[in-house]
Amino acid sequence: MTDVVLPEWCRLVRADNPGPMTLDGTNTYVLRTADGTVVIDPGPWLEEHFDHVLALGSVSLALITHHHADHCGGIELFRELTGGAPVLARDPAASGADAELPAHGERLDDLGLTVLDTPGHTADSVSFVADDGESVLLFSGDTVLGRGTTIVSHPDGDLGDYLASLELLRTAVPGDALLMPGHGPLRPRAADVVDEYVAHRQQRIEQVRDALGGGARTARDVVEVVYADVDPVLWPAAERTVEATLAYLRAAG
Ligand SMILES: [Zn+2]
Repeated sequence: MTDVVLPEWCRLVRADNPGPMTLDGTNTYVLRTADGTVVIDPGPWLEEHFDHVLALGSVSLALITHHHADHCGGIELFRELTGGAPVLARDPAASGADAELPAHGERLDDLGLTVLDTPGHTADSVSFVADDGESVLLFSGDTVLGRGTTIVSHPDGDLGDYLASLELLRTAVPGDALLMPGHGPLRPRAADVVDEYVAHRQQRIEQVRDALGGGARTARDVVEVVYADVDPVLWPAAERTVEATLAYLRAAG
């Protein structure tokens, strides 16, 4: 699936933190720009990983897609190793960042990078779009992964927000943008993956509705029916997404 040719200014460095939620590990992206080297999601506290990232150039800025530890848990060490490169996030306090990212739709200086607010997985989730005039790259964090599905991390995450964020990615990003997810393989057409995510989420909403109609009462009841074919190790995560779905259905009346 990784039949993706990256522009020479962008490199993927995958952290060695594989797991059920992180898939093959966290994807850290290293971008060479006119203003220096920019890192998207330095990743967890793994010094060897940071060594690999820093070997690609002296870092002038780090950007965080959301506050989960697999994306920014090592930020203090990373900052120290870079000699104090500034770190930006939508929620600086939760992410250990120095300052807040520019507003939704704004560009980051001369980087050719635009910030898109894409809440849902978490309240502070953002995506970045890079456009060099030839190719468009969508850095989607955990809003859209390279394979499988993501969670809506209730109560921080919100399903209504999440569906709106997928719709935004469908409409605001060219369909043939490369998908550069927070985990999993790169994908050649972001729009195809986003479409799959919308269809899957709608299907899950219907399944949750059916499970409630069938007598399920708690999120756990729903998980046991709807996620019966999913590895139980993922059930606690699924339960958070189901909680988000129940809140969404309640709000919809
Ligand atoms: Zn993650």
